[in-house]
Amino acid sequence: MLESLSQKLRGAVQKIASLTSVNDKVIDELVQEIKRALIAGDVNVQLAEQIAKNIKEKASGKIPAGMSRRDYIIKTVYDELISIMGGERPEISIKPKKILLVGLFGSGKTTTAAKLAKFYQKKGLSVGLVACDTVRPAAYEQLQQLSEKIGARFYGEKAEPNAAKIAKNASQKLSTDILIFDSSGRDALNSQLIDEIKSIAESAKPDEKILVIPADIGQAAKEQAEAFQNALGITNVIVTKLDATGKGGGALTACYETKSKVVFVTTGELPENMEVYDSKRFVARLIGMPDLETLLEKAKETVKPDIAEKIISADFNIEDFIKQMESMQSMGPLSNIVDMMGFGGKVPKDALQGHEDKMKKWKHIINSMTKDEKADPEIISPTRIVRIAKGSGTNEADVRDLLNNYNKIKKMMKSFNPAAMKRGNMQQLLRQLGGRGGLKGLGL
Ligand code: GDP
Ligand code: MG
Repeated sequence: MLESLSQKLRGAVQKIASLTSVNDKVIDELVQEIKRALIAGDVNVQLAEQIAKNIKEKASGKIPAGMSRRDYIIKTVYDELISIMGGERPEISIKPKKILLVGLFGSGKTTTAAKLAKFYQKKGLSVGLVACDTVRPAAYEQLQQLSEKIGARFYGEKAEPNAAKIAKNASQKLSTDILIFDSSGRDALNSQLIDEIKSIAESAKPDEKILVIPADIGQAAKEQAEAFQNALGITNVIVTKLDATGKGGGALTACYETKSKVVFVTTGELPENMEVYDSKRFVARLIGMPDLETLLEKAKETVKPDIAEKIISADFNIEDFIKQMESMQSMGPLSNIVDMMGFGGKVPKDALQGHEDKMKKWKHIINSMTKDEKADPEIISPTRIVRIAKGSGTNEADVRDLLNNYNKIKKMMKSFNPAAMKRGNMQQLLRQLGGRGGLKGLGL
């Protein structure tokens, strides 16, 4: 989990944000805390020290006109972190191309192949996945199943040991806009792997050779990226498993040091758990600033406009709530979404756990409610709870659980403070979602 890095950075920034005046002692403390947080997150020690030094110098120096020292310090922390996490958001070309994924065993190549496929499918391109991993047992089946799951074309030759041959045949057999070649890994980058990848590249002629690196190796990502770069001339990097380790900051800074451009990061095992990497958003999320741009993009893809509008204006009933929970599920864990909106930490965790089982139960419960109860759950008295539980084959605790969660989310949305968000983004968000009048409830 990146949570600990995030918590430490948030803590440091929040502390300074809560002060009315800052002195040298406060700045020193902040700088030390940030340095400790970065080192604990496996960021290279020298890099962490350099960042601390830069922040201190700027914080103690001249403050731009019209800005308080405190705000300037926060901005400096933000800017400095971005400077080590990678520059601008990368350009991802949405056009027909061939992509070869390379990396060591277990780095996440095959699952990433499916995630990339889904990404390009959503952009309207047809995608084919090619099984060029002839080493790992059942690699063929794994990719075949993923292809089926996401509705991508698939090409593989189960009995063929020569990956380059498969790559060549795939290019002839599949005429999709995008072709993604999955390849085999090894425990380390040895000559066998290098030769194999080179031969696949010769026959596939990929436009992009992307290295897949798991975030849990932390700053060791530097060595790995350099080795692959030198041996194979990779074009870009995808950092996987950002959800599963506290070393993500280390991996991202290490990649950036090698000048390998991180194009995507993955944050879970499902095909939709991938996003374009943008250091600005990443840092904003780490230190807890609202990240509406990411939300906007995800919302555009999955949330139905009418529901999104209702949710944002806190004018939703219990049925909308369930629909929203369901579409949120396909956006990834709800806690991520809430984090992106800058609510992180304020919402009880159990309000966010939208497991499928629970969702099914909740649907039964709602089906057992009367029209009046659905429109105004506040009228649901303890006797009504007993009736609803019986009618839906659940128990009273389940009914109360649903009502509690609904109330919590509703309360949270009501406390939604639009002034804390970037005004332009908020309006853009609603426009993109097709919202009209949704801002009324927010007083904008
Ligand atoms: P490969 O050997 O490089 O093809 O790696 P796989 O794609 O088979 O992935 C190895 C393991 O890592 C699988 O269990 C994946 O489900 C898991 N994995 C891949 N990406 C992520 C991610 O972003 N988050 C988490 N938590 N697990 C991941
Ligand atoms: Mg694989």
